[in-house]
Amino acid sequence: MTLTPAERARYQRHLALPEIGTPGQEKLKAARVLVVGAGGLGSPAALYLAAAGCGTVGLLDFDRVEVSNLQRQVLFDTAGVAQPKAEAGRERLARLNPEIRVVAHALELKADNVRAVFADYDLILDGSDRLSTRYLVNDACVIFGKPLVSAAIHRFEGQLMTYVPGRGPCYRCLFPEAPDGVVANCAEAGVLGVLPGVLGTLQATEAIKLITHTGTPLIGRLLVYDALELRFSEFRVERRRDCAVCGETPMITEPRDPKPPQAADAPRDGIGHLTAQGLKALLDPGAGAAPHLIDVRERWEFDTGHLPQAVNIPMSEFAQRLKELPRPGTTVFICRSGGRSLRASEMALKAGVAKPVNLEGGMLAWAAEVDPTMPVA
Ligand SMILES: [Zn+2]
Repeated sequence: MTLTPAERARYQRHLALPEIGTPGQEKLKAARVLVVGAGGLGSPAALYLAAAGCGTVGLLDFDRVEVSNLQRQVLFDTAGVAQPKAEAGRERLARLNPEIRVVAHALELKADNVRAVFADYDLILDGSDRLSTRYLVNDACVIFGKPLVSAAIHRFEGQLMTYVPGRGPCYRCLFPEAPDGVVANCAEAGVLGVLPGVLGTLQATEAIKLITHTGTPLIGRLLVYDALELRFSEFRVERRRDCAVCGETPMITEPRDPKPPQAADAPRDGIGHLTAQGLKALLDPGAGAAPHLIDVRERWEFDTGHLPQAVNIPMSEFAQRLKELPRPGTTVFICRSGGRSLRASEMALKAGVAKPVNLEGGMLAWAAEVDPTMPVA
């Protein structure tokens, strides 16, 4: 894939980088990248990939542009409201860079179409806001041997990981069980508009590195970004030998259909929810049998300040330490803001913990509503 004079002019600043140069830019021209979800994450990822000269960019989304998307989905503008996202995005990317090919996939990804869609791409970027789609994309990437750069956002926090076949853990290694419902999407939970801009741009960065064989990809490391504290944290993660899809005896050998989406605010079967005030009442000596408290924050966060009764099982070790959880009685899961502990509650329920309960709002809520002297990292 040699570069034309017009392309050499457009990509000068890449050509000037010895780490990319003409060979790297030719690799970009030959690359075929699919962006799953043209939303807050997919918007900056697709814009930067198109600008960078990624030869084929696929945009997969079956939604239409809504005015409330424009707070973060920078691929679209006000005039595009009500248009199909895949098509509106394709037009925008074509205007940005007419040298590349942009393919609109206005469809819902399913087990029966994922093979055909993925067949035309070398690398997948996942920015979907449904947990079920996230597992389908991960499983398909493992089964078809495609690298995957996966990102997720929630309120003020984001996370990122890269999967390369044979070189490290997959998404399911980190989060082994798909909960039955869907994650609360941005409509319910709220999200800082600029947050997916950071994570989507990091996805594009990883994609360009993988395509040009430059630098060190985020393999076996989960990157967590906290916008409120402006802090990036990194957690080492190992491939699980018993992973259901990339393990030694995988149970999932074909992509499976996502479970039908449920209302995000529907109660999750079997998981209780507790406010900080509710937990305070439960810990009162007169309240009866005290609950078990499991704090799933990382060790350094736990050491900054924690409830005296709490036992620390960090989320990065949680899947390996499930058998340490108390089985009978009520077990309250605690983290910083309530997101990780909800995931822990779901995993605990599947592992046979009788009554997992999530502390809504986490230690931040505890500090705000119950004990202002509690330090929270
Ligand atoms: Zn795995």
